[in-house]
Amino acid sequence: AIDFKWIRDNKDAVAANIKKRNSTADLELVLELYEKMSKLQKEVERLRGERNAVANKMKGKLEPSERQKLIEEGKNLKEGLVSLEEDLILLTDKLQLEAQCIPNMTHPDVPIGGEDCSALRKMVGSQREFNFPAKDHLQLGKELDLFDFDAAAEVSGSKFYYLKNEAVLLEMGLINWTLSEVMKRGFIPLTTPEIVRSSVVEKCGFQPRGENTQVYSIEDSDQCLIGTAEIPVGGIHMDSILSDLALPLKYVAYSHCFRTEAGAAGSATRGLYRVHQFSKVEMFILCRPEDSDSYHDELIRIEEDLFSSLGIHFKTLDMASDDLGAPAYRKFDIEAWMPGLGRYGEISSASNCTDYQSRRLGIRFRPSDSSANQKKVAPTQFVHTLNATACAVPRMIVCLLENFQQEDGSVVIPELLRPYMGGLHRINPK
Ligand code: AMP
Repeated sequence: AIDFKWIRDNKDAVAANIKKRNSTADLELVLELYEKMSKLQKEVERLRGERNAVANKMKGKLEPSERQKLIEEGKNLKEGLVSLEEDLILLTDKLQLEAQCIPNMTHPDVPIGGEDCSALRKMVGSQREFNFPAKDHLQLGKELDLFDFDAAAEVSGSKFYYLKNEAVLLEMGLINWTLSEVMKRGFIPLTTPEIVRSSVVEKCGFQPRGENTQVYSIEDSDQCLIGTAEIPVGGIHMDSILSDLALPLKYVAYSHCFRTEAGAAGSATRGLYRVHQFSKVEMFILCRPEDSDSYHDELIRIEEDLFSSLGIHFKTLDMASDDLGAPAYRKFDIEAWMPGLGRYGEISSASNCTDYQSRRLGIRFRPSDSSANQKKVAPTQFVHTLNATACAVPRMIVCLLENFQQEDGSVVIPELLRPYMGGLHRINPK
């Protein structure tokens, strides 16, 4: 549950944070709705108490006239209660909708401002020098017969694709290699449902409703297609109290992702760079609050290890406050050099969401009591959640094709992937 009392008691800090993150959240409205809801809740409880008192009185021996009076009184109370309960549901709904826009608090080291203010954390490798004209992934795909965008446009619509020939092996190879690398680091592998309840999407901090939603909803149902495995993995421990000893829980999940990409425009929307459906391997950690900063570092280190072992040139950024989205307290993005695109393109993102998702999803743990007083049971706390991309397949394909293309038109496969692609060394022109 969202901690409205905390928001009210820390109003100035929350308002400053909303401003810092350039968020459109309306704090005054949220607090006004919260006050109204609290009053209404008290009134509903009062009426429920009265109704129960009347019901109890009716259990005793009564004169017929007195009984009739109580029946009337009970009826009136019930009618009033039904109407107030309906108001309470509407008000709670409105409050939740407005409160969703309030962003998480912000890590003190996050640079303040727009995209240009993001801070460079790390740079690995350097831009490859080509002594021949470098092609983009679309041209390479055409010459190597790796994709079919035309048929996909007919069958599904724009921004869909078929992968063909070695591109299929590349997708499978990337997924299997990434899974095995991340599993080596102690993560539990999962495949997940790809249709989930809208309420779970909302609790993870995504907005399934509204004009510019990135989420595909299924008509006449309360379900959506997932935009990322973060949602079903976040939901796996919904409404539960985890054992302190079980933490941290580290998952690596493979799923398809579906995104409307409403509002996306520009040259990078061509080809595989921005599509409606893609495969992704995602890491997700649930941990004690005091550990989340260090697990955030661990996640970005894993991403950096994976990409550098493939021989990719990239930079890691500490994302600026405007670019965090509502759930993240801090976010590190990795941008890889894409010669065909002629710029760095985002290939992964690692976020520490602190208790933003766990509050909404109801995921708690009970700290084991290390103090002398063994009889006292420690109160439960919300876990912290973190998520990070291990491999978003289409952008990796763009990056690998464009960076490892050769003068003869072939593309060399990174050595580590070869055992996962039936030993394939190189994709040759057909
Ligand atoms: P996000 O969950 O938005 O942080 O995205 C994780 C990663 O998925 C990004 O870093 C991209 O590599 C990739 N990605 C996001 N959206 C798309 C898309 N529409 N098409 C292809 N890849 C995407």
